[in-house]
Amino acid sequence: MSRWGDPEEWARLVTSEGCPICTGGGPTHIIAELEVSWLTMGDDPGPLPGSCALFLRRHAVELHELEPDEGCAYMRDIQRVSRAVKEATGAVKMNYEIHGNTIPHLHTHFFPRYPGDAFEGRPIDPRQPPHTTVITGHAALKRRIISALQGY
Ligand SMILES: [Zn+2]
Repeated sequence: MSRWGDPEEWARLVTSEGCPICTGGGPTHIIAELEVSWLTMGDDPGPLPGSCALFLRRHAVELHELEPDEGCAYMRDIQRVSRAVKEATGAVKMNYEIHGNTIPHLHTHFFPRYPGDAFEGRPIDPRQPPHTTVITGHAALKRRIISALQGY
């Protein structure tokens, strides 16, 4: 759900002083610190096991706000996570989403896709209940992703 329906609230959220990520000292569930970002992965596996999100460590809302070097560094982090998650999960395809409509602090969602997953042939709905046939040891999967990141 977007938060810009209330212009005053939105104007506050897009600043580092009003951003819940910045005022909270960073996102929750950080599993790794990369070049310019934090990788997060919650305790709930969600509908696509191995799903995670990469938050820029400084406050920015849009990709175009990054300086060229910082943008390249963020892309290196994205590529590193993508490779590690694909390797750790055995996903057939990686999907990526950048929204920031609820939390306007630049972050990228990573969704590993599996044959027969709940969204085959259509867009991902992360609010949908887990697809039971693809859930296997969430904690172990998190450890495999952290381990795979070391290789890249
Ligand atoms: Zn922020």
